[in-house]
Amino acid sequence: MKKVIIIGGGPAGLYSAYKLLYNGFKVDLYDHSSGLGKKFLVAGNGGLNLTHSEDIEEFVKKYGENESFFASMINEFTPNDLRSFCTELGVETFVGSSKRVFPKNLKAAEILLNWIKRLKENENFSLHLNHKFTNINSNKEITLIHLENKVKIQGDNVIFAMGGASWKKTGSDGTWSESFKKIGIELSPFLPMNCGFEKSWSPFFIEKIGYSPLKNIELKYNGKSIRGEAMLTPFGIEGGGVYAHSLALRNEIMKTGVAILCIDLKPSLTESEIQNKISQQNQKSSLSNQLRKAIGIEKIAFLLLKEIYPHINRENAPRLIKNVEISLSGVRPIDEAISTSGGVKFTELTEFLELKKLKGCYVIGEMLDFEAPTGGYLLQGCFSSAARAVRGLLN
Ligand SMILES: Cc1cc2nc3c(=O)[nH]c(=O)nc-3n(C[C@H](O)[C@H](O)[C@H](O)COP(=O)(O)OP(=O)(O)OC[C@H]3O[C@@H](n4cnc5c(N)ncnc54)[C@H](O)[C@@H]3O)c2cc1C
Repeated sequence: MKKVIIIGGGPAGLYSAYKLLYNGFKVDLYDHSSGLGKKFLVAGNGGLNLTHSEDIEEFVKKYGENESFFASMINEFTPNDLRSFCTELGVETFVGSSKRVFPKNLKAAEILLNWIKRLKENENFSLHLNHKFTNINSNKEITLIHLENKVKIQGDNVIFAMGGASWKKTGSDGTWSESFKKIGIELSPFLPMNCGFEKSWSPFFIEKIGYSPLKNIELKYNGKSIRGEAMLTPFGIEGGGVYAHSLALRNEIMKTGVAILCIDLKPSLTESEIQNKISQQNQKSSLSNQLRKAIGIEKIAFLLLKEIYPHINRENAPRLIKNVEISLSGVRPIDEAISTSGGVKFTELTEFLELKKLKGCYVIGEMLDFEAPTGGYLLQGCFSSAARAVRGLLN
């Protein structure tokens, strides 16, 4: 019986284990955490967005410069295949109003529990928790640390699935990259992706806002507009609408030190409609009251307007409401990011994600040098890459 060593028990590693066992392989899975799928569980906290139901041609565009590679992997293991896998595990999924796909109860725990149960029920599955990968040499000898002792293992077939470098506490710390570099594997540096940004607010503003959401806004950057929401924080701004621009904002800040994000607080109204509604308000009442009554500008949005435009008045308000320019001066730390760019370059890999320099060794999931927005594209990419490596092993 063929044996495969898998290092990393996030969704990518666990899915490859599941498929390999199904195909009659023996699987030894190692992870340095005390439990499996910790980041997957965290992803379920705000509603686990498994994948997206838009047309595949639109879907694969989200992988940017890696579109063609992902197109072939996602056509092979599609969003519907991912939904069928959940059904196989006894968890139904649904398509939300935004076409995003979620498990019925929005959480990751049920999927993960059933998934691990299936793996453990298989006599060909061995799990080794608390084993930290520290090295691989060019003879494919792998060193792991278990309870401060070195453990050496070797196998003809290895799948690496150790994730990216954000949310360290979930196990993905990116330390694997040092050993890969030593044996000449080319990596792109890790950078935060789908991340928050820094803005130095006035002490008054920080005290007033804490963490406050801005809903039903439009976020504009570099000719691209996204309807969504954002979260104002004491450090700056984050949230879904910001993440959607994060790649371009991050790159601009890295190049010039600053990027200007523009927010339209009332995307459903034109400037002249706003003007018209404000003109019907009693001029004697405060500006915040006029804006609230005329167009529903809430307290937080008004505080933001005053913070950015201290001289806002009844006349210029319509223009400013539609163009709140927030100058961002930094990227929030990588550990807070939803995902990371960087990792093993595709030029190091065959079409089956096998390392050209280490035959029999495959790299999947967020270890790969790709970036995708939130919306289910990250998890789908991880699952599809796992399916591709398994196909390589089956071949
Ligand atoms: C807050 C948050 C919300 C998210 N929400 C979504 C969402 O809704 N939809 C979506 O598509 N994506 C989401 N993501 C991203 C998604 O969770 C990740 O892209 C996905 O988990 C990556 O899977 P992976 O298997 O490649 O790596 P990981 O899930 O990071 O798993 C890697 C595993 O490898 C282990 N490991 C790491 N280093 C070593 C080592 N040296 N030795 C041994 N083991 C090691 C880790 O302990 C871990 O178990 C979210 C992420 C975060 C942080």
